[in-house]
Amino acid sequence: MKKKQFKAESKKLLDMMINSIYTHKEIFLRELISNASDAVDKLYFRSLTDDSVNLNKDDFCIRLIPDKENRILTVSDNGIGMTAEELENNLGVIAKSGSQSFKTENAGVESGDVEIIGQFGVGFYSAFMVSKKVKVISKAFGSDEANCWEADGVDGYVVYPCEKESAGTDIILYISDNTDEVSYDEFLDTYRLSALVKKYSNYIRYPIKMNVETSKPIEDKEGEYETVLEDRTLNSMVPLWKKNKSEISDEEYSAFYKEVYYDYDDPLRVIHSKTEGNATYNALMFIPSHAPFDYYSKEYEKGLQLYSKGVLITEKCADLLPDYYNFVRGLVDSEDLSLNISREVLQHDHQLKLIAKTIEKKIKSELSKMLSTDREKYEKFFDAFGNSLKFGVYNDYGMHKDELQDLLMFKSSNEKKYVTLAEYKERMKSDQNSIYYASGESIEKIEMLPQTEAAKDKGYEILYLTDYVDEFAVKTLMQYEDKNFVNICSAEADFDTAEEKEKLKENNASFEDMFSFMKDALGDKVQSVRFTHKLKNHPVCLSNEGMLSADMERVLNSMPGAGGVKAEFALEINENHPIAEKIKELYDNDKDRLGKYAKLLYGEARLIGGMTIEDPAEFAALICEMM
Ligand code: ADP
Repeated sequence: MKKKQFKAESKKLLDMMINSIYTHKEIFLRELISNASDAVDKLYFRSLTDDSVNLNKDDFCIRLIPDKENRILTVSDNGIGMTAEELENNLGVIAKSGSQSFKTENAGVESGDVEIIGQFGVGFYSAFMVSKKVKVISKAFGSDEANCWEADGVDGYVVYPCEKESAGTDIILYISDNTDEVSYDEFLDTYRLSALVKKYSNYIRYPIKMNVETSKPIEDKEGEYETVLEDRTLNSMVPLWKKNKSEISDEEYSAFYKEVYYDYDDPLRVIHSKTEGNATYNALMFIPSHAPFDYYSKEYEKGLQLYSKGVLITEKCADLLPDYYNFVRGLVDSEDLSLNISREVLQHDHQLKLIAKTIEKKIKSELSKMLSTDREKYEKFFDAFGNSLKFGVYNDYGMHKDELQDLLMFKSSNEKKYVTLAEYKERMKSDQNSIYYASGESIEKIEMLPQTEAAKDKGYEILYLTDYVDEFAVKTLMQYEDKNFVNICSAEADFDTAEEKEKLKENNASFEDMFSFMKDALGDKVQSVRFTHKLKNHPVCLSNEGMLSADMERVLNSMPGAGGVKAEFALEINENHPIAEKIKELYDNDKDRLGKYAKLLYGEARLIGGMTIEDPAEFAALICEMM
């Protein structure tokens, strides 16, 4: 019999696979089972209109037959089968299957660099990743003769007539010998094969069966066991997500979530949706009730499982989730992505993007719903994952702020409870034009700020920004609807009436020389010195000028590699405090002492503002001197 050569491109791909150190050899089983399932599908559909098929739905199955002794694994199906010509055309050439485009797309792939193949799948040829020889015995439905296709690697293949009783295909794998690095024994082990079916092919519509050895108690002989063969169905077949929502209980959802995503707690919310139209898919997603232990580590990978018609393609498809929804767990099963998605995922990219877009919308609407109908749960969610949303606002130059702003919450001076921006705006005072906030390490520290006292005194609600990302997010938002965000510690926060403002301006102008003397004494520590009316009991405060607040300065400088970032301040002195008279007097009589006072007041203002003293020794010495 003359050996025929594989078409050139097949040969190259085959060579690449067989000779590469390949980490996901196990996917060959998924590929062969999927092919078998397709073939069974074809005959099943035929049976609906053609009585000569003579099989009931329950008769169709896929069978795994491991033979440890002879190192043979057979994947057998009673599907449509292949004629000699089809064997030749389908298995001798890759040209017409997705693998061709795979090859063109990846023309530059080195033979050692095949991780990529794992992601894209390789169909029938993956059999050679675990086999030294492959035989395919097939009988096409309606044909009298059976044929065998046989190949032992890249050298070529032969096709010859043989015997087979009924229609279908047996893929017979002569499992490779173990090498020093790789053991292939696992692919003959029933335990391992069961696990692989569960992992990749659990939702194939037809039963995948295998005879499994188990030990059973012997009847009438207490304590004695015998080993018997049990015919087991390895897959569960009906995917939970394909059932109707009304048929699924909360317990079922929870059990599924816990088992598949390794959580010990129930999910906070289940999102189960069927979408038809431009992109047809089922999605079953979960919002966990707490962050997984590796959530804040580099190792955490976002993503959803991607299935194509019930067959697992990728464990984590990152493209399906935007970063700010990285906490969502779950899966997408698409009818549109043919089984070839694995090979052609690059070309199908737009399809995936379409799905990702609708998924994003769905998550957003579910979160909004949760916020409006189940506040308690939403706050729990926000405690766990709110930071992700805040980062989402801040990242990508604020590109997603409109999408996310209504999902944000901050604690506020109003009972220190969470408030959304919409709620804040809703209860703003009639004379209030801005959304006031203050930032600091903790609510307690913020409440100690003199400016907080002043703003609260005027009856304004203040958002308390205590997470390090908060103020960055708020600065990125800039506005919520038509209201600006204003830090109460900034010069912008001015609660005086127009009249009061005018008076203060006049006063400040008349002491311009004194202030400029004090500013000089402080060097570049402050941009200016002036009187203020916003303080009640405190003598001084630092008021922020420019983009960077004191808290942002603290956050930025605490980041590795950062440092030297400086916020700009004005030193504001309470004009109604006795200290105001004192400095005026010193300016007239003892300028030297006023210089020292300036430094002391500046240090005091830092302390009151929750900051540290830059030069504690100098400050302490100054205090003693003044005493
Ligand atoms: P793909 O599945 O992407 O077409 P494969 O290399 O896996 O590529 O298979 C090539 C073709 O061989 C299939 O399209 C199918 O027509 C045929 N084939 C493979 N396995 C079987 C099988 N078990 N029964 C019938 N036909 C099969």
